[in-house]
Amino acid sequence: MDIILHGPPGAGKGTQSDNICEKLGIVAISTGDLIRAEIKNGTELGNTVKEYSSQGKLVPDEIVMGILAKRLEQDDVSNGVLFDGFPRTVNQATMLKEWLAQRGRSINAVFSLKITDDESMFRCTYRLSNPETKKSYHIYYHKLKVLARSETDFTPIFCSPDGTRLTMRDDALPHKVQTRIDTYHNETEPMLGKLETDFNYKVFDVDGMPNIPVIKEEINKIIAENL
Ligand code: ADP
Repeated sequence: MDIILHGPPGAGKGTQSDNICEKLGIVAISTGDLIRAEIKNGTELGNTVKEYSSQGKLVPDEIVMGILAKRLEQDDVSNGVLFDGFPRTVNQATMLKEWLAQRGRSINAVFSLKITDDESMFRCTYRLSNPETKKSYHIYYHKLKVLARSETDFTPIFCSPDGTRLTMRDDALPHKVQTRIDTYHNETEPMLGKLETDFNYKVFDVDGMPNIPVIKEEINKIIAENL
């Protein structure tokens, strides 16, 4: 089974991806995570992609496809993949279709999480994560405590409930989140429409505004009834 999971920034793709993969016995591949890993490794490729992603802009297709192709060489993709935040352009969708077709596979369903732009901004600008475990926390929803203050500008440094210092993504500043939201509307949404009309994929819209268990239940219902 091969699935696409999409949604605007902060829609909860990562959280729901864990649930879907567990249910269907497939692996999740997030191009955003692959790109951040490349940046963390400090390679030349990492420096190139950082110029785009740190501004909230899409990384050019040929670079994303190169990074993804490396990941798709691993054996664990043979049972099926949940593509998290991929494809984002029609070009990427076409290349994915070809890769799957060569293996006698096709996309079985597209889940499209929906949240408002205000919620997207609120979730992303107050989201921090544990650099080791990658677990995300929201300053308000998780009632995070201030661990210390920056010596230079006195800005707060937050910690998780177990006291671990949390870090913020470098595309979390409001003007960068706004670019990510705009990019989603201008580039990804039209592509999602084409997945239904031109690629004939089944696209399921899911309300991403309620709390996590409610969204999970909605997705599980779609899986039980359609897949
Ligand atoms: P978001 O949901 O905010 O876009 P992601 O973690 O999915 O967060 O992606 C972070 C960044 O990585 C994007 O803003 C973009 O620069 C880059 N990126 C991720 N996936 C793709 C893709 N398929 N094509 C181009 N750029 C991508």
